[in-house]
Amino acid sequence: MTTEPLAGGRAISAPLLGHGTEPTLFEMSVAGRSAIQLRTTGVPATTLHDLVPAAHLNPHVVAIAEVSERDLVGHFTRLSHRQFSVDLGMYPLGSCTMKYNPKFCDAVAADPGFNSVHPGAPAELIQGWLELLVELEEKLCAVTGMSAATLQPAAGAAGELTGLLLMRAYHDANGDARTRVLIPDSAHGTNPASVTLGGYQVTTIPSNSRGLVDLDALKAALGPDVAGIMLTNPNTLGLFEEEITEIAEAVHDVGGLLYYDGANLNAILGVVRPGDMGFDIVHMNLHKTFATPHGGGGPGAGPVAVSERLVDFLPGPRATLAPHGTYEWKKSARSIGRVHGWHGNAMVLARALAYVNVHGGDGLTRVAHHAVLNANWLRKRLDSTLPAAHDRVCMHECVLTATDLKAKYGVRGLDVAKGLLEEGFHSPTVYFPLIVEEALMFEPTETESLQTLKALADAVERIAQRAINDPESLHRAPQTTPVSRVDEARAARHLIPTEDAAGR
Ligand SMILES: *Cc1c(COP(=O)(O)O)cnc(C)c1O
Repeated sequence: MTTEPLAGGRAISAPLLGHGTEPTLFEMSVAGRSAIQLRTTGVPATTLHDLVPAAHLNPHVVAIAEVSERDLVGHFTRLSHRQFSVDLGMYPLGSCTMKYNPKFCDAVAADPGFNSVHPGAPAELIQGWLELLVELEEKLCAVTGMSAATLQPAAGAAGELTGLLLMRAYHDANGDARTRVLIPDSAHGTNPASVTLGGYQVTTIPSNSRGLVDLDALKAALGPDVAGIMLTNPNTLGLFEEEITEIAEAVHDVGGLLYYDGANLNAILGVVRPGDMGFDIVHMNLHKTFATPHGGGGPGAGPVAVSERLVDFLPGPRATLAPHGTYEWKKSARSIGRVHGWHGNAMVLARALAYVNVHGGDGLTRVAHHAVLNANWLRKRLDSTLPAAHDRVCMHECVLTATDLKAKYGVRGLDVAKGLLEEGFHSPTVYFPLIVEEALMFEPTETESLQTLKALADAVERIAQRAINDPESLHRAPQTTPVSRVDEARAARHLIPTEDAAGR
């Protein structure tokens, strides 16, 4: 390893990929150093003080790291080699649908005809974009069995809040003040949070011994004050709610609406439709199912599709095809308004349409078949090592449990997950859903091959063997990654959101 001392900053380690300590940009900073120097800009020599009134100028020197372009690129390239990503290997994180996303969709969305357009351009200049939005809305409605959709919400949780505002607008329009929304105890954490944000109270419905909504408990909780129910089917245990028709009937009977959390549509694409099950509102995560990489905090999109009786309340404006054949923006008088500053995260929308069109109708059905097949293959293969929490055919994900390993060898689900990092796999989701002890939730997705699934199962079996022979080593895992075991709670308890010029 060679080091090059920097005048003002910390020594920078040479490109030993994935190892060694990496200084922060602030530690590398040298006063006066910069990445680019514009010698002739053509802009008349004015100072900031000529352009901005003094009262609006910040009197303090802002601490910005000063580094050369070379050092900047080296820094981020080295950091990128310490990361695990969907482009690198399998990422079986259940409920998150971390699948490989075809680069073709990126290339289509990156066409300058799409990405050089200002969202404020008048409709007559962006007919192609509006056509794309209309076509995507139609295709998402076809997949979910709904009548119309808004493409504005920027993520799944934003879609949930939009859906709850739609629920409220519908009941308000009927002069019907309702206060409660029902949610099963297996639900994703964003569901109760969105209900609270939407101004409703949560009533939790327990799951039965088969991992499904307890129908009797549901019926007992229903009443004229129930605005609706939020469900996902398959549910977060990866199981299909077989009594969905009875559930829908019971909720509709008291005047409530059914909300479908469609963050993960992999299991049902082209097979069954929420609309046919009786749902009134569906949100979809285009950044899980439809070709936008998920995770890492990039932009997402959470379109919300609704049944006929809710169409008028949708956020606007929406792109529509006018009778004379041109596309225009339209907003209904009863619309709940905007839920996004513009028309949604447009590039995510463009990628999603490319994904739907390149697959075609039966291609999307194949996505669902393979996602479900892969999850069941893994569930069966791991049956004697990590048994499923519910011994039934699952959908696109399976919830396994490490209670046996814990009872016999003191090895917890977390230890298994950390051991997998040493084996070159990302960890599955752990300790979710909350109702399963020592839960390990695997979602292989349709994009992994049989060979990869076998390699993952082999790795889990090696870890189970280690639990017998050397459980202590699993408590210390991972040892072979750039960062070894971290304190799970410390970052949240001792948050340091800023860094000053001295790197403190
Ligand atoms: C991911 C997910 C959400 C939330 O989506 P975000 O885009 O992260 O806000 C909601 N429900 C389920 C079931 C999910 O998996």
